[in-house]
Amino acid sequence: MQLVFATNNGNKLKEVQSLIPEHIQLLSLKDIGCFEDVPETQLTIEGNAIQKAEYIKAQYGFDCFADDTGLEVEALDGEPGVYSARYAGEQRDAHDNMDKLLNKLSTKEDRSALFKTVVALHLNGELKTFTGICRGSISTTKSGDQGFGYDPIFKAMGYDKTFAEMSLDEKNAIGHRGKAVRLLVSFLINI
Ligand code: IMP
Repeated sequence: MQLVFATNNGNKLKEVQSLIPEHIQLLSLKDIGCFEDVPETQLTIEGNAIQKAEYIKAQYGFDCFADDTGLEVEALDGEPGVYSARYAGEQRDAHDNMDKLLNKLSTKEDRSALFKTVVALHLNGELKTFTGICRGSISTTKSGDQGFGYDPIFKAMGYDKTFAEMSLDEKNAIGHRGKAVRLLVSFLINI
């Protein structure tokens, strides 16, 4: 089976590739000749994942799945949420985003947060979604150089290191995207 993973993010591709069984050949957007920015203009994480999967099917004709992820911080009423990528501006810079978040949390006691990933699958004319959540907290400083995005400031519940201090396998075992992708895989191997 061939399936497109609708992302241009090399880190996501690496994480997901390691969870997909070998008989499913993952194609990237590059592999199908898609070099444009896939629209993600919805107001929810689920809406964006569905929008990306539907766009690729409609424009390129491939069965595919897309993911969208947001970091929701309790003391900030769920911010940055669906705006996680451009929290500190359209430059979409991970360090700017983390600095803004650390700054906003500097006066708050409650640092609890969660990552939520929704994977939307467009297969044989049907759409299905799979959700993975990882609860944890925002650390007070950045640590680690693995992963991407907010990884240097997110500690999963029960762990004393950030996602950026974990190997890819460790993060995948407990992380939001790993959980959503494992649900996707168990659906795919049962059809
Ligand atoms: P996206 O729209 O799914 O690409 O995710 C939005 C933003 O959330 C990204 O630009 C990253 O800043 C952040 N993000 C997504 N997934 C992760 C993750 O696994 N770790 C840390 N940050 C993430």
